[in-house]
Amino acid sequence: MRRMRNVKIVATLGPASSDHATIAALAAAGADVFRLNMSHGTQEEIAARHRIIREVEAERGTPIGILADLQGPKLRVGTFAAGAVELEDGAPFRLDLDDAEGDAHRVRLPHPEIFAALAPGAELLVDDGKVRLRVEACGADFADCTVVTGGTVSNRKGVNVPDVVLPLAALSDKDREDLEFACSLGVDWVALSFVQRPEDVTEARDLVAGRAAILSKIEKPAAVRCVDEIIAASDGIMVARGDLGVELPVQNVPPIQKRIVRKCRAAAKPVIVATQMLESMIESPMPTRAEVSDVATAIYEGADAIMLSAESAAGQYPVEAVTTMDSVAREVEDDPTYTEVIEASRVARRESVADGIVAAAREIAETTDIKAIACFTQSGTTAALVARERPRVPIIAMTNLRDTARRLALTWGTSCVMTGGLDRFKQAVVNAARAAREQGYAEESDQIVVTAGVPFNVPGTTNILRVAPCDERLIWATDPE
Ligand code: PGA
Ligand code: MN
Repeated sequence: MRRMRNVKIVATLGPASSDHATIAALAAAGADVFRLNMSHGTQEEIAARHRIIREVEAERGTPIGILADLQGPKLRVGTFAAGAVELEDGAPFRLDLDDAEGDAHRVRLPHPEIFAALAPGAELLVDDGKVRLRVEACGADFADCTVVTGGTVSNRKGVNVPDVVLPLAALSDKDREDLEFACSLGVDWVALSFVQRPEDVTEARDLVAGRAAILSKIEKPAAVRCVDEIIAASDGIMVARGDLGVELPVQNVPPIQKRIVRKCRAAAKPVIVATQMLESMIESPMPTRAEVSDVATAIYEGADAIMLSAESAAGQYPVEAVTTMDSVAREVEDDPTYTEVIEASRVARRESVADGIVAAAREIAETTDIKAIACFTQSGTTAALVARERPRVPIIAMTNLRDTARRLALTWGTSCVMTGGLDRFKQAVVNAARAAREQGYAEESDQIVVTAGVPFNVPGTTNILRVAPCDERLIWATDPE
């Protein structure tokens, strides 16, 4: 039950991790959130994984978060008569709207809106940047390019256009269908791929209509340029380093990662650092030292969560990959330097009563011997604010809303406990003390800090801070109603 780390682990499910035994083993090894990748797998497969996660959740008695990741507007070339072509450096190559199959001189790019947005000098990256084309001239239905970096291009390979804000709908028809399907399953988070502007998030939010929280993946230079507005419009963020490292020079990715992690913490919104964290574990039971450093760096930076992609979805060692992340996290978080770094980067922006209460909760917890901070939360906001403080003691989010508990699975240092509807503060304190004991954080002789809002069941009212004993008899005997 008791988690010995603050950072959360997101594990992507796929062919290597679709049966009950594996998903249960991933959860037992430390996966807090499961990611369903809508780019792969049929709706039946996704629905089956969703059902198994909920079964595992019921068996474990701990809320598990489920994140559905939409494919987003991914551009692809058409097909070639020969299945693939070899493009030579310096050769001319044309993209157009002609449905004839492609050859060494041209291929279809079935996106008229892209031709309208291109300009001479723009770069097109094919197949994750393995082949690069530079636009020399373009019109409404063609772009004449020079091959800058040659290589093989085969049927339906992806195309990235980093420099241009594309006039693409944020959600393709497939995305809209997948979004509706994921919401009907009851996922907790929907992730949006290739977000370019805050309006993309607003558009998705209207369709989600409160059924899930919204996470924006930062993987386009355009998104990096307006990241503040995208964070403000979203409930959470993913630093999607795979595509980001293709769309931008790779050396730009680490500073962007650091900046986004800090901004998200300041905004009290969870941030996932993702992609190729333990890539070699797809085929090896051991990570490389460089990968361990990468995972450790994200944790030192204060990310809420770290993510496994193909390592858990398609690799040979999904459970070992989670175990590796868990061990790295424990080691890092045990390091006094970690505490120093996390505390030195605390944000001081405090505007509301809740901001003041959570800061006081942390101060008290660190001044005296307090075992945990238990916060009653409806929307999850108070728990996120406590997490933003990055206290040294565990955070217990107490909520009567199952959806809130599941969404908070992504939030740094927070474990969630379901608590019945409450009308008396005294009962709330008793429940919090019991949760702290049951989670293994406190004994009867210990004390915890409890924050809550009275009246209960009204979001955004945090207005009470109580230092409480964990002995229920004492609470009943001494607390006001
Ligand atoms: P993807 O997103 O795995 O859906 O591409 C993550 C990334 O691009 O890093
Ligand atoms: Mn991506």
